[in-house]
Amino acid sequence: MRGQEDGSTKPIEIRGGLIAEPGRISSVDPEETTQWEQVAPRKIEMTDWARFQGYMREIFSTFGMTLNSPATERTPERYLKALYDATAGYEGDPKLLTAFPTECRCDPDCFIAQLIEGPISFYALCEHHALPFHGFAYVGYVAHERIIGLSKLTRLVRLLARRFTVQERLSQQIGDALADLMDPHGVAVHLEAVHLCTQMRGVREEHSKTVTTVWRGGYSEIPELRREFLAEVRNRNPWT
Ligand SMILES: [Zn+2]
Ligand SMILES: [Zn+2]
Repeated sequence: MRGQEDGSTKPIEIRGGLIAEPGRISSVDPEETTQWEQVAPRKIEMTDWARFQGYMREIFSTFGMTLNSPATERTPERYLKALYDATAGYEGDPKLLTAFPTECRCDPDCFIAQLIEGPISFYALCEHHALPFHGFAYVGYVAHERIIGLSKLTRLVRLLARRFTVQERLSQQIGDALADLMDPHGVAVHLEAVHLCTQMRGVREEHSKTVTTVWRGGYSEIPELRREFLAEVRNRNPWT
């Protein structure tokens, strides 16, 4: 599994017969598998990279950048690499995330314990402008027969965020992924973000935050769960 250590560039075979590039697997601990984050590596040919760099050189220089200084010579290449990394979420599939059994027998206690995780910082690119929106996610759930590890919640949020997306869809996708994976009694997702496409240009609403909240299952029916979740979100808000 650690092919990169001997300098080999051969693809590594991972569980389920999936093939990953050397150096792309960050963890091999079976309790902390990340294979679901790298099931669909994007293949971009060297000739395509070279052509894309040409496009970026043309755009940057037309817009006013001096491209022949030591600092900017490789900017088109670095820019594309950064954009590629910022959209790495397309390489994973949350459907492949594994859940673990709990001891829930669905007695009345089942509905009492809500688990709230957050703030989870995230960075996404808005699909209208390809500019970043970033902020914090809070996830709540009332587990039933399955749970996922807490660190997986953070990974899941970031996997879905590192794409071209919109905040509403991102919130829905996080909620849907958790509902599918855990079949819980309820899921709550709350995102607060600032959008650079409005801050850097256009209306320049520099201090406005966009808030989206998604309720699934018990949260839609039980106001107390929603109140408890939102109170906890307010308590933990790193922006206030
Ligand atoms: Zn239950
Ligand atoms: Zn935008």
